[in-house]
Amino acid sequence: MFRVVREFQFCYGHRLLEYEGKCRFLHGHNAKALVVLEAAQLDSKGMVLDFGEVKRRLGQWIEENLDHRMILHRLDPVVPILLEAGETLFLLDVNPTAEHIAQLLWEQAQRLGLPVVEVAFWETPHCQAVFATSGGAIAPNVHQARPIHGQLIPPRNPGPVMPQPASQPPADSLSAVV
Ligand SMILES: [Zn+2]
Repeated sequence: MFRVVREFQFCYGHRLLEYEGKCRFLHGHNAKALVVLEAAQLDSKGMVLDFGEVKRRLGQWIEENLDHRMILHRLDPVVPILLEAGETLFLLDVNPTAEHIAQLLWEQAQRLGLPVVEVAFWETPHCQAVFATSGGAIAPNVHQARPIHGQLIPPRNPGPVMPQPASQPPADSLSAVV
């Protein structure tokens, strides 16, 4: 059995609902994901899959959907406020925990045709969540895991919105000061 591992890094913001700790507040992470691909045999080039192809498929999806986005539960009360303020959001039907983001990446890698067996996701350098199949077969716990529905939601207004001063002083009043 051959395995290759591709690392991805991206920034995201989130907060957790029904949670007592500090993660109930909006905050951000510099995340790292290791995506493990497996094949019993190599292709004609001698590869599980070209690393460039992994980057092109999953890396592009991460960049377009998750990087520098707020990843939030779709029922989070802050969602309409952020959309109104010009934010583009990635909304999940589950709490945006490290475990669920690992599962989201695993499911997306599968959708993109990658032979993924494991996604290890670091929310911080010390906190890692893993979503994995076992021995190349779908593990029982994977069957039990409900698929995550995620969707990129564009803002209601163009953003980022810059606050405008209430009134601009006339140009000649500025030159008068000089
Ligand atoms: Zn967090």
